[in-house]
Amino acid sequence: MISMMYHHVGSDRCSNDLAIFEEHLAYISNNFTSVFPTLEKLPPHPICLIFDDGYYDFYKFIYPLLQKYNLKALLAVTPKYILNDTEKDDTVRLGFEHNDLFQEYKNATFCTYKELQEMQSSGSVQVVSHSYSHKNLLEKDVNLEEELLKSKELIEKNLGNKVESFVYPFGKYNQKVLDETMKHYRYAFRIGNAVNKDFHGINGVIYRVDGDFLEKPDTIFHFNNILKLRCKALIKQIIGN
Ligand SMILES: [Zn+2]
Repeated sequence: MISMMYHHVGSDRCSNDLAIFEEHLAYISNNFTSVFPTLEKLPPHPICLIFDDGYYDFYKFIYPLLQKYNLKALLAVTPKYILNDTEKDDTVRLGFEHNDLFQEYKNATFCTYKELQEMQSSGSVQVVSHSYSHKNLLEKDVNLEEELLKSKELIEKNLGNKVESFVYPFGKYNQKVLDETMKHYRYAFRIGNAVNKDFHGINGVIYRVDGDFLEKPDTIFHFNNILKLRCKALIKQIIGN
């Protein structure tokens, strides 16, 4: 099972060119079955698409493409920066550089709860937790309870869903953080460019392949690259995460 990590389209960092990205999604649609996390039997060629942070460009550009190509995706959000609704227009909401998007959250640089609700109701997007405030969970002063549990409770309260997946900010965690995570979630996602057998992941964590800055729509899925991802998975199984 391949799990992908993406951030933006058309931004200045952690991003993809919209035209290439559309071709990438078309390729996935033709060659894989996109799935939400499950411990049940997976279909052939399963892929789990995950978009981190929940920037407004997801709602504006990526969500319509998911619908067009009949794909499912997780959207990993951080409730501290989510507004209920907004009257700001697209020029404001899309007008900031990547590095300013968190501090400008009051300009609705992230999807609002209203937008998240709409996307989740469509069945093609599952909103999951990416912590409360997008802190590195290995930092000393971090409030793990707030980052892990409050984030989940806020999403569930606002969207009425059940949040079972957690995506580590910056991919950072250790065994203690993972143990805490699994008290509240069924699935924990990291970064690390490896494939997983299924949603049990590798040693309890699901690895994701970096899908930002795609040079061509399908290079990532070429035989040699998949082989590298499989080798990495084998090594991680043996030496630990
Ligand atoms: Zn993030």
